[in-house]
Amino acid sequence: MDALAAWDALDMGWKAAFQQAWKSFGKGSFPVGSSLFAPNGMLIAVGRNRIFETGGDPLAGSLLAHAEVGALSRLSTDERHDDVTLFTTLEPCVFCMGAIVLCRVGTVRYAGSDSYGGAAKLPLDINAQTARYEPAIDGPLDGPFGRLAAALPLVYLARSDRWTRVLDHVRESDPDLVDLAGDLEALAPFQDPRFFPIAKALEEAWPFISSFE
Ligand SMILES: [Zn+2]
Repeated sequence: MDALAAWDALDMGWKAAFQQAWKSFGKGSFPVGSSLFAPNGMLIAVGRNRIFETGGDPLAGSLLAHAEVGALSRLSTDERHDDVTLFTTLEPCVFCMGAIVLCRVGTVRYAGSDSYGGAAKLPLDINAQTARYEPAIDGPLDGPFGRLAAALPLVYLARSDRWTRVLDHVRESDPDLVDLAGDLEALAPFQDPRFFPIAKALEEAWPFISSFE
């Protein structure tokens, strides 16, 4: 299957989340995107990282402007959300895991593993509330999209001087992923994502992410 056929076949939840991640990448924020879907397949909300931006969201420009929280903040306060699925391109951190529990979202699906800040395995039996609302978690996503989701934040970090300890950590824990990020970084859409749709980036990245072991 080629890149565009694979993209067309991808679940809508993933498509929405990846489009948000690509948008954050183009805006200079950390490239993570999320979407929330109702069981009937209706899109409830999207969110994306806006840490290095201003406007568009009350948390934008703060260290709390995480993609998952941006999407979760759109949920109504007077309904149950245990049948809602959160799709997110990167394994949720401790902050987002807390927000997921407090919002009582039933299912979390994440694409890329985060060996530095990922908290999908956070123990949630610490009190009655976390134990009661512990979500079902499905991730990481196998195949090219999981690899793209995990590598994209590393491309971002390699191009900036921010959070260098993250890259140092992954270089130790998963050097092949850092190499993959290096390959992607050289591609035109990853050099200047503002001028390329994610489909174009995917096409160019495909030989690297579909052959990666
Ligand atoms: Zn987070």
